[in-house]
Amino acid sequence: MVNPGESDSRKLLGRLKATLAKDSAGQERLDRITTIIADSMGLEVCSIYLFRDAETLELSATEGLNPEAVHKTRMRVGEGLVGRIARTKRPINTADAPAEKGFRYMAETGEEVFSSFLGVPIQRLGEALGVLVVQSKEARAFSEDEIYGMEVVAMVIAEMTELGAFVGEGAALAALHQRPATFKGGIGQEGSAMGHVWLHEPRVVVTNPIADDPAEELKKLEAAIESLRVSVDELLATADGADKEQMQVLEAYRMFANSRGWRRRMEEDISRGLSAAAAVEKEQTAARARMSQVPDPYLRERLHDLNDLSNRLLRILTGQGKETGAEMPEDPILVAANIGPGELLEYGRKLRGVVLEEGSVASHAAIVARAWAIPLIVHAGPITTEALNGDLILVDGEHGVVHLRPEDAVVDSFRDKMAMEAAQQERYVSLRDKPAESDDGVRVRLTMNAGLMADLPSLESSGAEGVGLFRTELQFLTQSRVPRRGELAQLYSRVLDRAGDKQVVFRTLDIGSDKVLPYMKPQDEPNPALGWRAIRVGLDKPGVMRMQLQALIRAAAGRQLTVMFPFIAQLQEFQDARELLIGEIERERRVGHILPTEIKIGAMLETPSLAFSPAQFYKDADFISIGGNDLKQFFFAADRENERVRRRYDTLNVSFLNLIEMITRRCAEAGTPLSFCGEDAGRPIEAVTFAALGLRTLSMRPASIGPVKHLIRRTNLAELRKVIDTARGSGAQSVRPAVIEYLYKPHPPVA
Ligand code: PEP
Ligand code: MG
Repeated sequence: MVNPGESDSRKLLGRLKATLAKDSAGQERLDRITTIIADSMGLEVCSIYLFRDAETLELSATEGLNPEAVHKTRMRVGEGLVGRIARTKRPINTADAPAEKGFRYMAETGEEVFSSFLGVPIQRLGEALGVLVVQSKEARAFSEDEIYGMEVVAMVIAEMTELGAFVGEGAALAALHQRPATFKGGIGQEGSAMGHVWLHEPRVVVTNPIADDPAEELKKLEAAIESLRVSVDELLATADGADKEQMQVLEAYRMFANSRGWRRRMEEDISRGLSAAAAVEKEQTAARARMSQVPDPYLRERLHDLNDLSNRLLRILTGQGKETGAEMPEDPILVAANIGPGELLEYGRKLRGVVLEEGSVASHAAIVARAWAIPLIVHAGPITTEALNGDLILVDGEHGVVHLRPEDAVVDSFRDKMAMEAAQQERYVSLRDKPAESDDGVRVRLTMNAGLMADLPSLESSGAEGVGLFRTELQFLTQSRVPRRGELAQLYSRVLDRAGDKQVVFRTLDIGSDKVLPYMKPQDEPNPALGWRAIRVGLDKPGVMRMQLQALIRAAAGRQLTVMFPFIAQLQEFQDARELLIGEIERERRVGHILPTEIKIGAMLETPSLAFSPAQFYKDADFISIGGNDLKQFFFAADRENERVRRRYDTLNVSFLNLIEMITRRCAEAGTPLSFCGEDAGRPIEAVTFAALGLRTLSMRPASIGPVKHLIRRTNLAELRKVIDTARGSGAQSVRPAVIEYLYKPHPPVA
């Protein structure tokens, strides 16, 4: 029999099932599988190659090749035909293997006599596990039908590998998901964390990949698709028509749920002997493999939808919901493909860190992680396929690296690093009530950035002198509707209560374009960061901003109110925004509400244009805060979210410092207080450099206050200023080397 049709492949799977059901060792099972496949297909050779490490495949079982070569013959990914299949995740089918490009002759296997070769990847959800190969002496190409049959068998082997059916001696037969793995991603929020994995959506495990009764499995698939279709229709019916993006996703779901091609392929898989769940997973695996290869973002999104939909279908079929009964570890580090801000907030403050396969530095989840000051890594490879609940995991938010199930040596050095950081923090506690006064007597004000009520206790524990930036986006992002004025007023009032006599600077909503609110119509803009956002939305469609301003005025009744407008690019925008606020105060006065005792209206300086604005701007603003994250990205034209360029230009680059110095001088001339509230304010070297240039207020994450204060207190700012000026005069591109040399190396006093 050379051409296994549907029933042949079912017979083959039936034989495999009987073998797998026997209680035997992993190696024995693999050996039996190769024998059965070769026999069923009437071919001389069947071999299974499995990964022994991320880069190397090993011949792990064979019928027909030299048995001596088992566990000895190895190849790297990309090497030879087997290595090529592992790399491309695509089958190779040839009648004349030795003539094929990249063929590697392995004398020890005795395979030179075999001409025909068919190899398919053994993969599961995009994770390559090995390669399944059949060979024959007769020079013949294998039919489409045979390739398909082999893919079905490879799927079963993949499922059984996942279930641990082939665990045995040696690295190639080691249990899956137990080896150490490292993932490199983007840094959403800095910090270090050690803990145990908590999967946001635990993987569905298909425990029975081979069908006993195909007719029964077809019925199950039919029923599951029907229930999926009903639930998608219901979602569509209840979805808010205004949310275009969500509607698009649901429409795509519906399209797939009704897609004949998708169903037909799964039905065919079942008729060849797979269970309904395995058939769904086979399609999902194919979608995930294509996802990584399709360059077109639209198509990739659709494959992404298909992947999501397959997950839903699998949960219906297996009855495995998100609730697995597993207990959340005490030190959970959340691992997810992606997560919205609302879902993330539901976990609360117990999370030690977050690792996402997708996400972005400016995503809503990143805003939450920033507010909680826990490390967040985004774009962390296929971590949801690799991680299991309860695995030990280390998150290095400084370098964007995640160590899953790390070796002891890595754990030890990470623990040392964290202990050192903790000891440092202890030392900083003793500084808490001391002023940030430099060695030469200059007083710098250190305030903190916040975004949630839960951040306020840090005011005391960190020794911050106020809240220099209260980001107000989160309350808008986590709800499916615009928050009510009363709710906001209540929250802002509680924030002010908790802050007591310390000042809180509320920044009005910085939203739009890339940070679309769930209830806002998404704007399809080519460059969202340069688009219709923040104050531009607030001035063009003032409804929401006016409501927010009213809430702020009411919250501050009888006390000081400090409001700051984001993303001002020219004087007029600031004047218009200020007029709007003054108008709201008038309105509140007219209706007889108690007003704030004092109102300070400031602007964030986040665009280079504002730095060069007419002197009037500097006079009009009650205070100015440099939003260094945005200012730097626009100054260097380097996207703050793009890992490739975000670190390309040093904050201590002379051009940027010249800009900061000019802003400082113009503020001093106008007598307007200036602060810096971007992430750089919390980096000690940057912070002392800014202080040396004349900045007297720096706003940062609470955890940064100790380190920054520590360095300010031991630095002579006048001397440092001379060092900076000398470096600038010498033609240096960045003053960092000179600043570091001055701060950390023994040096003679500067004349
Ligand atoms: C900034 O741009 O520096 C800033 C503080 O605002 P955000 O990071 O919220 O854009
Ligand atoms: Mg900003």
